[in-house]
Amino acid sequence: MSTTTTGPVARDVATEDVPGPRDRLGRPLRDLRISVIETCNYRCPYCMPEGATPEEGPLDATRRLDFDAIEAVARSAVRLGARKLRLTGGEPLLRRGLEQLVARLAAIPGVEDLALTTNGSLLAAKARSLREAGLHRLTISLDALDPGLFAQLSGGRGRLGDVLAGIAAAEDAGFGPLKFNVVVQRGVNEGEVLPLLERFRGSGHVVRFIEYMDVGSCNGWRREAVVPSVELRDRIAARWPLRARGRSYRGEVADRYQYLDGQGEIGFVSSVTAPFCGDCHRARLSADGRLHTCLFASSGYDLKPALDDGAPALDAAIAQAWLGRGDRYSELRSDATPPAGAPVRRRIEMFYIGG
Ligand code: SAM
Ligand code: SF4
Ligand code: SF4
Repeated sequence: MSTTTTGPVARDVATEDVPGPRDRLGRPLRDLRISVIETCNYRCPYCMPEGATPEEGPLDATRRLDFDAIEAVARSAVRLGARKLRLTGGEPLLRRGLEQLVARLAAIPGVEDLALTTNGSLLAAKARSLREAGLHRLTISLDALDPGLFAQLSGGRGRLGDVLAGIAAAEDAGFGPLKFNVVVQRGVNEGEVLPLLERFRGSGHVVRFIEYMDVGSCNGWRREAVVPSVELRDRIAARWPLRARGRSYRGEVADRYQYLDGQGEIGFVSSVTAPFCGDCHRARLSADGRLHTCLFASSGYDLKPALDDGAPALDAAIAQAWLGRGDRYSELRSDATPPAGAPVRRRIEMFYIGG
C-alpha cells in the first residue's frame, strides 16, 4: 500500500455556469448514476436481504438496456449539463463486457469524472482492464475487516479476502485515492469503525461512513439502527483528532475531515441526520431504462420510447423529467421509525435504482 497522504477525492465539477435545465428547486443536473445491472452476488441485509422480493417484481435481465442505449442516455445527460457519471448496480462488475461501456463513456466529450461503485468481490480480475478502458475512480464498499462479520454483512456470500485482493489490484492498476463506503449500523459493525480507519490511515485512500438509510421497502430499516455521523465523528476524534475540511464542491455528498496528524482524510455521508437535498444534482438510470430523480422515488420515467425516437426525443424526455423534479425526500423524512403495521410508502430498491 502506498504511503502518500491526501489527494483529490473527486474532480471538482462546478455547478454554476453550465447550461442546462434547472428543476423546480433551481437545481441543475450534474451527475448521472447508471445502474448497469439489477442483481448482485451479495445479499447485504440493508440492501437486498436474502429472500426479499422487491416490489418491482422479479429482477429481469431481458429488460436491461444495451450499451448503445446506456451511452445514448449518458450523452443526452451530458448535453443537459451532467459532468459526472457513476456506474453502479446491483453489482456492476457482474455485467459482461463492462470495460467496453467504460471506454464508450470515457470518450464522451464533457465527462469530467467517470467512477464506479463496487462490492470489490470481482475486482482483482478486472481492475487493470477497467483502468485501461478509461475509468477514473473507484469506490469500494467495505463494511467490516473481521472476516466473519464481513461474510454476515454480505448475506453469507462474500469473502473478505476477495475484496482485499481487489483493493490491491486497484492500487497496482494505478487507481488514485480509492474511496471506501462503510454503512454503519448500531450494534452490528460499529466496532469496525476504528479498525477500518487504522488500516487505511496514511494510505491516501478515503474511508467514508454512510448513515444507514431507509431506502427501498425490504430492508426493515429502523431509525434506532442509524448511527448519526456526529456521534461517529466524536468517537473517531477522541482517538485521532480531526479538522473539518467541508465539502470540496457544491453537491458533494460527504462531509470531509482531515486527521490533524496529516495521515489523510475521511468522510461522512449523513443522509438521515443532515440531509443535503438542496444541493442534490443527481439523476439515476435503472438497468431497465427508467430515469429516477431521487433515491427515494416511488417511480421512474421510462426512457425506452424516447430512446427509440432518437437523440432530440431523449433530450426532451430527460429535460422534462428534470424540469418537473421537486424531490427532497431526506429533508422531509419523519424522525421516527414508522409504527409496526403502518403503510409504507412504495420506494424503489437501492440495488434496482443504483446506489
Ligand atoms: N454493489 C455495489 C456496492 O455494494 O458497492 C454497488 C451498488 S450498492 C447499492 C451502492 C452503495 O449503496 C454501497 O456502498 C452500499 O453500501 C450502499 N447502500 C446500500 N443500501 C444502503 C442503505 N440502506 N443505506 C446506506 N447505504 C446503502
Ligand atoms: Fe449488492 Fe451492493 Fe446491495 Fe450489497 S449493497 S446487496 S453488494 S448491490
Ligand atoms: Fe437527492 Fe432525493 Fe437524496 Fe434528497 S433524498 S439528496 S433529493 S436523492
